[in-house]
Amino acid sequence: MDFSIPDNTLDMLASVRGFVDAELIPLETIARERSFRELLPLLEERRLQVREMGLWTPQIPTKFGGGGLGFLEHAMLSEELARCPYGHFAFNCQAPDAGNMEILIEFGTDEQQERWLKPLLAGEIRSCFSMTEVDRPGSNPVWMDTTAVREGDEYVINGHKWFTSSADGAAFAVVMAVTNPDAPPHGRASQIIVPTDTPGFELVRNIPCMGHAGEDWESHAEIRYENCRVPAENLLGEEGAGFAIAQSRLGPGRIHHCMRWIGIAERSFELMCQRAATREIAPGVPLASKQTIQNWIAESRAAINAARLMVLQAGWKIDKAGAREARVEISAIKFYVADVMMQVIDRAIQTHGALGISDDTILSTFYRNERAARIYDGPDEVHRTVIARQEMKKYGVKLN
Ligand SMILES: Cc1cc2nc3c(=O)[nH]c(=O)nc-3n(C[C@H](O)[C@H](O)[C@H](O)COP(=O)(O)OP(=O)(O)OC[C@H]3O[C@@H](n4cnc5c(N)ncnc54)[C@H](O)[C@@H]3O)c2cc1C
Repeated sequence: MDFSIPDNTLDMLASVRGFVDAELIPLETIARERSFRELLPLLEERRLQVREMGLWTPQIPTKFGGGGLGFLEHAMLSEELARCPYGHFAFNCQAPDAGNMEILIEFGTDEQQERWLKPLLAGEIRSCFSMTEVDRPGSNPVWMDTTAVREGDEYVINGHKWFTSSADGAAFAVVMAVTNPDAPPHGRASQIIVPTDTPGFELVRNIPCMGHAGEDWESHAEIRYENCRVPAENLLGEEGAGFAIAQSRLGPGRIHHCMRWIGIAERSFELMCQRAATREIAPGVPLASKQTIQNWIAESRAAINAARLMVLQAGWKIDKAGAREARVEISAIKFYVADVMMQVIDRAIQTHGALGISDDTILSTFYRNERAARIYDGPDEVHRTVIARQEMKKYGVKLN
């Protein structure tokens, strides 16, 4: 395995880091006083600057107008962008749009690409992905109540979803619904594009999460689909291919999620070290002189480095052998890196004392927003089971 990073990639990462420090991190202070929508004009200005840098939609192939970065290059970029909560948004590679761009490129028809992909790539619209249901376990997504029944040349969708991130203000949702109830479990559901102005699409509310309901891109919505009719040509890929498409999105997507978490851990680590260096607990005695703090610094440094290498190795294996072959590595990074990130954020908060709990630093935002990392993209426990199953196979034990 080659651990070297090409010079041009290092240059690109350095210039993105400079941009994040100079143009995006200062917005965090402004965001304390403003809602996300009030912040948007400033973010749009930053988005213009990003276009001029040639890094707009960096992960998208150049033939679609993107930056054409390779998989691992984008993973490393993702770490830099994650140092600020607005990084990915400013570069138009934010979830859930980035995943929807990918599936539209891979599975979208020419008409779907023209109508939905183009404006998404241009940053003119946003989208969401609507799979998890209120009354069914997201950890077992083949058990799903939402249906899409074919009537003539339309699908009629009924269901109750929630945690559809960024639905507020989105132009369309990619909805997972059962179209083939008699097929084997993984062939029952399809992905269907539903414009959010379709009659029967009802955004019930933005769900308050840890005291923050959010809005626009920064929100998670509860949605009812009631006799929501869309043309049959809004089907993405084949009927019944919903899970196969979701899988193609989730595996490699986890590398980018994990690198985003490493970026968050790095920023928290920086803040912890800065505070340890500057906070005096007695005249001339910095907090960093205490061994507990030194241990947190050392353990965090080691854990972040280990986590990064694990993610890059998993990405490397996906590149070489495909996502299926790399499923143990992918599951391992999902729970390991989420855990490292949460530990580092927690230590950074502790190092800041009361300031860490306040909203005067970004740490409280990280703590609130990122706890979910252990739940979405498959709860940690499910990923641990995946690994145990594969490992025990070697010993002749078949686990369910
Ligand atoms: C911030 C955030 C954003 C999200 N964004 C989206 C989105 O954009 N679109 C979307 O469709 N969904 C989204 N989700 C939903 C997410 O995918 C689900 O929350 C996740 O799949 C878990 O499903 P659940 O919440 O129904 O938990 P459940 O399935 O009810 O599981 C609850 C808990 O049970 C335990 N558990 C479950 N299965 C097992 C098992 N096999 N073994 C051991 N323990 C187990 C785990 O601890 C788990 O946390 C988001 C969630 C969050 C928190």
